[in-house]
Amino acid sequence: MRAAASTGCAHVVGAGLAGLAAAVALADAGRRVILYEAAPHAGGRCRSYFDAELGCRIDNGNHLLLAGNRAALDYLERIGALGSLEGPPEAVFPFVDAATGERWTVRPNSGALPWWVLRAKRRVPQTRARDYLAAWALRRADPSTTIAAALDPRQRLFRRLWEPLAVAALNTSAEQGSAALFWRILAETLGRGGAACRPLLPRGGLSESFVEPALARLHAQGAEIRFGARLKALMFGADKVSHLVFEAGSIGLDGADMVILAVPGAIAARLVPGLDVPDRHSPIVNAHFRCTPPAGAPFFVGVIGGAAEWIFRKREVLSVTVSAADRFVERAVLELRDLFWRDVAVAYRLPAYPVPPVRIVKERRATFLASPEQLKRRPLQTTTWRNLLLAGDYVDTGLPATIEGAIRSGFAAARLATDCRLQALSQVVASSGRSPLALTEIEQERHRALP
Ligand SMILES: Cc1cc2nc3c(=O)[nH]c(=O)nc-3n(C[C@H](O)[C@H](O)[C@H](O)COP(=O)(O)OP(=O)(O)OC[C@H]3O[C@@H](n4cnc5c(N)ncnc54)[C@H](O)[C@@H]3O)c2cc1C
Repeated sequence: MRAAASTGCAHVVGAGLAGLAAAVALADAGRRVILYEAAPHAGGRCRSYFDAELGCRIDNGNHLLLAGNRAALDYLERIGALGSLEGPPEAVFPFVDAATGERWTVRPNSGALPWWVLRAKRRVPQTRARDYLAAWALRRADPSTTIAAALDPRQRLFRRLWEPLAVAALNTSAEQGSAALFWRILAETLGRGGAACRPLLPRGGLSESFVEPALARLHAQGAEIRFGARLKALMFGADKVSHLVFEAGSIGLDGADMVILAVPGAIAARLVPGLDVPDRHSPIVNAHFRCTPPAGAPFFVGVIGGAAEWIFRKREVLSVTVSAADRFVERAVLELRDLFWRDVAVAYRLPAYPVPPVRIVKERRATFLASPEQLKRRPLQTTTWRNLLLAGDYVDTGLPATIEGAIRSGFAAARLATDCRLQALSQVVASSGRSPLALTEIEQERHRALP
């Protein structure tokens, strides 16, 4: 493999959303970028592909964005794909109780003052405004508290709103999930009002929104993209990475070269000595039913008391998502098909028979388990080696493993790679336990304030 010719090259390893975001930001900043990806395609855990059996393109899993996901929207704007999202014009979350068929829609008002909790028609039925105030307990929760310990699981509001939101956002059960992390999500979305909660989905597929436009932008910026390039090892000098070792050969790094390692946490831990990362994972199961969704049907429906948790309307499929799906990963495809279709038929008012063709996708290690213990294992983005930065949904972003977290980590790594002062500062605070992302944000504010 040929060596990087010029100095100051940014070597980004891993073309998931963290790596793509880092590469796009670095190319935008005028840096020479080489992006290495082990697979023959980009996107990692967030991509689309053609399913020959269903005869259509599907996403590896349903991914929901909210309008408050500012880094994700910034990324889509940079790559010219903001217009590829669709969703309801305002924040609406339709739910159905699979057992009783009861339906309701949660409708936060668009401003930050949450007067919607005062209106019975906007809240979960048979809940009171003061039930919602109980969510403040999450804010006060210490880092070792779980969601189920901070809130009251016997409450109707817990079962019909907090639990489904928490499980979807953290991919972790309320009994195991971190209350503080759930609070952070609520603060960034519901806490900022309905305008920040407007759901957004790719109109085509995940790759059409997040991956292909990014690759096109990188090509246009002169970045080099190498697929089938699996990093096997890093070689280290005194305080820097000296070589990237691939199957095809090794690449020596120049003095000003930077490496952004944007591979999943478990792989990063194999490549970087002494790196602690979350080591427990949580599965997500998706079922894609090939059928034409009814005209005017909602973009998605939350299901309470069924096997499915969320059902999404796509162009050619109705698609079920179950997070923290340990109870389903070992079950047979036919059994899951019948369980999930029953809920889809109720939610979208479709006949129970015949059951359409289905593709069940079980992502056993979809994300890390967002428990208080696992969160302690999230690493900072700077490392002992001056030219090595980490990016990925597993680093300490303060967010769960999400598109928003992955992209924020990519952007933060790019900022750290292009600003030596910032990197030095970040290394200083690393010992104090503060997040380098917080640091980069503080620094950015300072830059903006300068004349
Ligand atoms: C089924 C499912 C549903 C989800 N739903 C949502 C959702 O609704 N909303 C949301 O926000 N998030 C959701 N997520 C989470 C989101 O997809 C991830 O947080 C995000 O995609 C992680 O991006 P990443 O770049 O950190 O990691 P990855 O996507 O894992 O990217 C890492 C990349 O590194 C590559 N790589 C690995 N080893 C090497 C090596 N040695 N050398 C070179 N390359 C290597 C991999 O092939 C991969 O492309 C979901 C995830 C799954 C699996």
